This record gives sequence, structure tokens and C-alpha cells, in this order.
Amino acid sequence: MHIQAITLFPEMFTALTDSGVTGRALQQGIWQFAAINPRQFADNPQGYIDDRPFGGGPGMIMMAPPLQAAIDAARQSSPQGRLIYMSPQGKPLNHMQAASLAREPALIVLCGRYEGIDERILTSNEVTEISIGDFVVSGGELPAMMLMDAVIRLLPGTLGDARSAVEDSFANGLLDCPHYTRPVEFRQQTVPDVLRSGNHALIAQWRLTQALRRTLTRRPDLLADRRLTPEESRLLQYIRQEERDIPL
Ligand code: SAM
Repeated sequence: MHIQAITLFPEMFTALTDSGVTGRALQQGIWQFAAINPRQFADNPQGYIDDRPFGGGPGMIMMAPPLQAAIDAARQSSPQGRLIYMSPQGKPLNHMQAASLAREPALIVLCGRYEGIDERILTSNEVTEISIGDFVVSGGELPAMMLMDAVIRLLPGTLGDARSAVEDSFANGLLDCPHYTRPVEFRQQTVPDVLRSGNHALIAQWRLTQALRRTLTRRPDLLADRRLTPEESRLLQYIRQEERDIPL
């Protein structure tokens, strides 16, 4: 997958390109990255790409012409690339959307700064606006990196064991189960016996029960959106009986 970020701060993306799972996947050629700085398309020697808002008010707005030039430059290498604007006003990012974006051949991710971008960029391009949550951060770079990480880890070959992504929270509509590793004893707490039993069927059932229990107590909204298997329905009924105080 080819990803281009339109950003005033290309150096921030080294957090993704130089380390961890995403850095390794880049080295393996699973994704490619280029940053385009709209400053290179500024029409003034100082490189200003922002100006005061019409109508007055605080802050500056990123101007349309240099942003459009950056989008057009990105389109030259990825004519089919999906254009995304990171915005608190977009649809909140979730697993389903990350999985859908992971099937795209290319992404062009526009990162805003200041008070945001001139609206005409959004009305004159086909743009998907994506938010990382109902709060505002100072720029689109961190949101873009969160989106990119969520997408890249779903690309075939990125994770050492492909089962990891499938078993993560949200992938199958549930929260993940609790995990343990050595030592067996820690602060008077022992790893559940079943996980050391070697009985894979029992372990799978324990994990599913825990995932259902966590989802029921922490994110019941996820269960409302999910079609349960007969086994999940049976386990959920059992969990609800155990935790009678949780409303159905
Ligand atoms: N005035 C804008 C508003 O209230 O909608 C917020 C501007 S914010 C300070 C600057 C940039 O950060 C935005 O253009 C956007 O690219 C990015 N940003 C801020 N919060 C975000 C969020 N929750 N999700 C995605 N991007 C965000």
C-alpha cells in the first residue's frame, strides 16, 4: 500500500517509519511512504501557507491553493488513492473502517494545522473525513499516524502471526480477553489454571467467555451490534446469570 501524508511536519512520521511493527513492514515493502509538505507550493518566499480567516476570529486557516497543489502532486503518484482529511468533524475511526481502508491500494492523508483548512478543499475534492475521537488535538499528524498504524497492522504480512490482528479487540466485534505470561505468581495473583492446562478447547472457551464478559461489562453497545453464535449466546446467558446486576 502506498501512503502519502500531506503535512507541515514530515519529520513526525519517523515515529511510524523508523520503529516497531510499522517500521519493519516498511522495510519489508508492505507499505511505502512519502510526505508532501504544502510549504513547497507556497506562493511567497517565506513559505507561508496560512492566512487569517474571513469574518475575523482567532487563529489561522491553511490556504486552499498550496493544499490543492499538494493533493494534485500526491495524485500524480497515486491517481486512485483515497483522499482522507483527518478532522474532529469526521466519522470516528473504528476497526471496520480501518479494515476497509486496508483494502485500498493507496491513501493520501491530509493533516490540518491551526484552525483547520479552507473549506473549499473539502467541497471541491472527493474527501473522506475521519476523526480519532471527540476531542481536538493541535494537528492532523498524530491522528494520521494512528489511522495509518491501525491500517498497516491489518495488511497481510505486517504482523508476525496473522492471528494477532484477528484476535485483537473489535476485530470480531468483541473486546479481547485478558492475557498472562510468566511468572505464574505475581503479587499473590496466580495465572488461571485453565491457561496452563494444555487443553486447547477449554482454553478457547475460557478466552471467549472472558471476552464476552469484558464486552458486556465495558462495552455492551458492541454486543447490540453483533450477531452472536449459538455458543456465544449460551455463554452470555451464563455470564448474565452470574452478574445479575448488569441490565440485559
Ligand atoms: N477548528 C477545528 C475544529 O474545531 O473542528 C480544529 C482544528 S485542530 C486545532 C487542527 C487540525 O488537527 C485539524 O485540522 C485536524 O486535521 C486535526 N485534528 C484535531 N483533532 C482531531 C481529531 N479528533 N481527529 C482527527 N484530526 C484532528
